[in-house]
Amino acid sequence: MKSIQASEIEYVDVIVVGGGIAGISIAEFLARHSNLTIKVLEKSPKLGNLASGKLEGWFHTGALYSGQDDAQTFINCVNGVEDIINLYSPYFSENCNINLTEKHPNFYTPTIIPNPQGWFNDQPVYIIHPKADAPEISSSRLKSDAVQINIQRNRVLGRLEVAYGKQHNWKNHNTCIAPTYAQVENHEGLSCSLRQSTQTIRNLCSQFDYSYGINPSDYEILHTLDCSMNTSKILRDLVASCLTQGVTFETGVTIDKLLMDRYGPIRLKSLICQTQQGLPKRLKAKLFIFAVGEGFKPFLSDLQIRARLKRSRSAMVVAYPALAHNNFVRMSTKNRFHFNHFIQQREKGKQKFIYSMLADSGYARDGEEEGVDIEPILESAERYFGQEKLYNRHLFSYECVKTEFISEEEQKRRYSYWIESNPQSNYLCVLPGKFSFFPTVAYQAYQRIKTLIEFEETFPKTPFDSKTLKDIKEQAATLVADSYPLQIFTQAT
Ligand SMILES: Cc1cc2nc3c(=O)[nH]c(=O)nc-3n(C[C@H](O)[C@H](O)[C@H](O)COP(=O)(O)OP(=O)(O)OC[C@H]3O[C@@H](n4cnc5c(N)ncnc54)[C@H](O)[C@@H]3O)c2cc1C
Repeated sequence: MKSIQASEIEYVDVIVVGGGIAGISIAEFLARHSNLTIKVLEKSPKLGNLASGKLEGWFHTGALYSGQDDAQTFINCVNGVEDIINLYSPYFSENCNINLTEKHPNFYTPTIIPNPQGWFNDQPVYIIHPKADAPEISSSRLKSDAVQINIQRNRVLGRLEVAYGKQHNWKNHNTCIAPTYAQVENHEGLSCSLRQSTQTIRNLCSQFDYSYGINPSDYEILHTLDCSMNTSKILRDLVASCLTQGVTFETGVTIDKLLMDRYGPIRLKSLICQTQQGLPKRLKAKLFIFAVGEGFKPFLSDLQIRARLKRSRSAMVVAYPALAHNNFVRMSTKNRFHFNHFIQQREKGKQKFIYSMLADSGYARDGEEEGVDIEPILESAERYFGQEKLYNRHLFSYECVKTEFISEEEQKRRYSYWIESNPQSNYLCVLPGKFSFFPTVAYQAYQRIKTLIEFEETFPKTPFDSKTLKDIKEQAATLVADSYPLQIFTQAT
């Protein structure tokens, strides 16, 4: 005889599907500003186990995009700095260690405040920008390469100076205000107060040039606001804040079906899923938020989303112990010459791991499949650090899927974030192009949510203090996955 299985029915105000940085930060921001009941559903046994746990950990404040033709992505990064300082630093004052500091009397710019427990590492990212005597240009027979590298260099210097140099005072009427697109685009001139280097960076550049058989060339080296971020800590703090606001998390959930109401505007009636224990469950809500990263495909036709999905694979190489103690990014007009070295630090029990993340962040052109070949990364690493040093390290590589939405009107924003909803529907789709954009994504999703459901806004009266919330902190630490490299280290030891 077939056994009869009862199906649980649960109702909450808002269901967030996907427990990566997008889902968690949206749930957190909404919980902090409302009394809505919120539940986050995650397919994996732990939160933050996919892209949000596998990334390089580069906090983007615009440096990488400062050389692009179009300044949109650059300005999105700069706006992200404004959002984090206004919306996160006051509330997560204990660990969100980015804020405005007074560089000159009454002149404020954003700064990473040293704090070993902070979200951001105060070691800056040095941008290394080549000039015409660099190997890729001096060996080229094309005159246009020298012209192009100069155009890119001028953009980098100009945009970074306007945003983070001596041009723009970020404090205005006690609020943090980023420069505008027009300010950034209209600036001309090469005087840049961010030129700064270290002996280590200069030696690395020389070693790179010698490896091509040329004498050290003359690089622009800039000290940027970019840095490495402790993404596990950010996720854990956001989850801890969620828990204090009553957000519930259910992991190991499999979504079987979306039950759509097809009469009138498309609305989602129920979500049918199976719990971690394999029990059937029907979830109903006023609003459903999909923040499923690479998992969007099965939902697109039910939700009637017409945007195109672009999935590409990227490779990352990890070296332990770290190869150098500076974060640096070599830009170029040629993708093959891009190279990033980031230092990450993680702790597991009493063990501390300091390791290098090596990648290549050349701008992928439209329609161009990003390769997953790690050989170019290893080749560049050999040139900077030497074969002996590199292969003396424990080295491993892994792949990760990058998902972007492409639609006509969102074309320019696709490296930033994508938020889509129909004003009459009861669901929202969100996909950030970068982890770093979580403050903007959470805030912009919140603005959209206000147009979809009615609720009373609340504002926290005191900052979040995780020190007094030991149990919550532990609970959050159990819910969030360790970063992927840490999972590998601990499996290997
Ligand atoms: C190789 C690589 C390097 C990167 N480096 C950086 C960097 O240095 N700095 C930076 O800012 N950004 C970086 N990014 C981008 C960044 O990782 C992503 O933009 C960000 O993590 C995306 O967050 P997300 O929450 O949308 O996706 P995810 O982190 O993938 O989260 C989506 C979640 O949804 C869950 N899910 C999927 N389907 C379902 C379902 N049916 N039911 C329930 N749950 C579901 C998944 O399990 C997952 O946990 C990098 C990306 C890649 C691929």
